Amino acid sequence: MVIPFKCMPNCGYCCTISPVTVFPHEVIILTRLAEELDVRDLTFKPGYVITDVKNGVRVALSYLMQLNSEGICPFLNKDDKTCKVHSLYKPLTCRSFPYLPRVIRYVIDPELKLVDFTVEFVVSTLCPVIRNNYTQDELEAMINNVNIAIKVMPKEVAAAEEAIRARKLYANTLTALWRAGYIELRSSEGNNTNWPIINAFEYIRQFIPHITLDQFTPNITQVLRKTNP
Ligand code: SF4
Ligand code: SF4
Repeated sequence: MVIPFKCMPNCGYCCTISPVTVFPHEVIILTRLAEELDVRDLTFKPGYVITDVKNGVRVALSYLMQLNSEGICPFLNKDDKTCKVHSLYKPLTCRSFPYLPRVIRYVIDPELKLVDFTVEFVVSTLCPVIRNNYTQDELEAMINNVNIAIKVMPKEVAAAEEAIRARKLYANTLTALWRAGYIELRSSEGNNTNWPIINAFEYIRQFIPHITLDQFTPNITQVLRKTNP
């Protein structure tokens, strides 16, 4: 029986090792929370970008939340290593760590007018709890069998599944807009890199104005209202 995973209190190591991959709607949520919490050094860089050749824009499907000048996530409390957004909205990558996508492969198919993706997961040995408590065989068992992973780290796998649902919502909505003739997508290679980059959530809202943050993250509007009534 593999022992259940438990994050170490006052560790925060995973908040210092690299930029955090976030979804486009999370950029909007985290930017609003940073304003409310007076976090001033929050910056994002576009991650995976596709091209809309019909409207002359590039569309960012992910972003990288940058570490600040001290080499830590801007939401990390330096003293006790707690997360300032823990009880408000923690990015899905943070909630699923150390159970993370190892490879995400997007399919942008002009013939079928289809946006789709596949994901392979890994259990990160950058986490000291993982490194010190699990054998290679146990890690492989978790990677190869999601039911074992669920037993060991149920909350982390649930967050990873929530991330898949969000990714699917982007893919399905873009597919629907493409098939309805509003957009014409290509993978970014070889396309015009002078075109502006637009956040995929804001881009979708140009065509479907009634789509809300709550559709990507249930009840987030309530959370944001509480921080700024
Ligand atoms: S590195 Fe591991 S133990 Fe440390 S905070 Fe991150 S998940 Fe928890
Ligand atoms: S948002 Fe919170 S959990 Fe995620 S990296 Fe920043 S401080 Fe860590």
